[in-house]
Amino acid sequence: MSKKYFLRLYNLILGTYLRKGMLFLNKYLMTPGPVPVSTEVSLAGARALIGHRGREFSALFSGIETKLSRLLRSGGCTVIFPSSGTGALESLAVNFTGPGTKVISVSCGVFGDRFREITALTGAEMINVDVTPGEGVQPAVVADAVKANPGASVLLLTQNETATGVFNRLDEIIAALPKDNRPLVLADGVSSIGAMPCFPEAWGIDGLAFASQKGLLTPPGLGLVWLSKRGWDAVSKRKCPSYYFDLSRQKKDLEREAPENPYTPPVSLYFALDAALDAVLADGWLELRARAARAFAAGLEALGFTLLVKDAKFRSPGVTAFYHPSGATKEIEKNLKGLGIEPAGGQGELKDRLLRISHYHDVRWPEITLALGGLYAALGDENRKGSGDFMRAAFEAWEAK
Ligand code: PMP
Repeated sequence: MSKKYFLRLYNLILGTYLRKGMLFLNKYLMTPGPVPVSTEVSLAGARALIGHRGREFSALFSGIETKLSRLLRSGGCTVIFPSSGTGALESLAVNFTGPGTKVISVSCGVFGDRFREITALTGAEMINVDVTPGEGVQPAVVADAVKANPGASVLLLTQNETATGVFNRLDEIIAALPKDNRPLVLADGVSSIGAMPCFPEAWGIDGLAFASQKGLLTPPGLGLVWLSKRGWDAVSKRKCPSYYFDLSRQKKDLEREAPENPYTPPVSLYFALDAALDAVLADGWLELRARAARAFAAGLEALGFTLLVKDAKFRSPGVTAFYHPSGATKEIEKNLKGLGIEPAGGQGELKDRLLRISHYHDVRWPEITLALGGLYAALGDENRKGSGDFMRAAFEAWEAK
């Protein structure tokens, strides 16, 4: 390209940005995954690579396993796949289900539907239980489905339905199940682990799938799977039709004196996860997530927004879903993006009708004011008139702890 054309192009791009006032616009990522990653985690991920067949990698892997065990309060191991959360869900499906398996699938939104869809592909017979999006799963509904289907050997649950911001109480659901002949409980913890309590061994979960890019505060790319003793016994009796996602094959390498991965692991992401787990394991982290969610919700309501999840017990500590009763939600989303704040919209049947803002990462009072202040500006003149003292409402909820 000649110098003249280069300068013209340069001026055109610069002019466009300046007109839009975007040149130095800070970006604030508020989607429920990926979530912003701290400098410590980014720097850990940028470390020089090491080989994955050696003592140094094994030490890194062991350290991560120890931290995950502390997080989940379990003695078992966690398999780590180079995949997103969907891969972790698929590994549960292919290792536990197939033709001849009867599966009860409880869904309250898009991601419950996805777990169901993945499992149905194995040829399993599906019994579907649907809960209205925005509502939490009631333990009695699941217990009734299990009692009505004694031949079902697997139960699928979602701890946090990201599409609606519903946080299901898996401990209460599992405690209400019949004690005899209980199906194996497989849970989607993709958008809960790290930000919400989940103690699979104590609660009776048999297979738990999760991922790096939400509550674990790490870039996307790791799918994790934890199994109970009962879960490992069940998969060891089956021949897994997948080579890559075969959990028994993974376990063999994990249980070596120096643990390894059967295939090349994304070493940089292991470094990043190792650093991120220190933040997640800090005292009071889970309480802080719930506190931020409560303060944000109080501010939203004072601004005139409606929260999708009506029952506060089921509101997610990681992501809040809301809309504006005027019907201007899509417009508000656009305005917010113009300010450099990136929320997520609705999914599935809630597309264009919902806004979702996450608080998985280190969201405290300053970050809450940023999100609420951005929304105040994004409301537009008409809708702003109906808003109340949102800062006071949020601050009172924040101080209430
Ligand atoms: N389950 C839940 C609850 C999720 O939130 C997501 C991602 N938003 C997934 C599954 C799928 O995970 P991934 O996009 O990492 O494949």
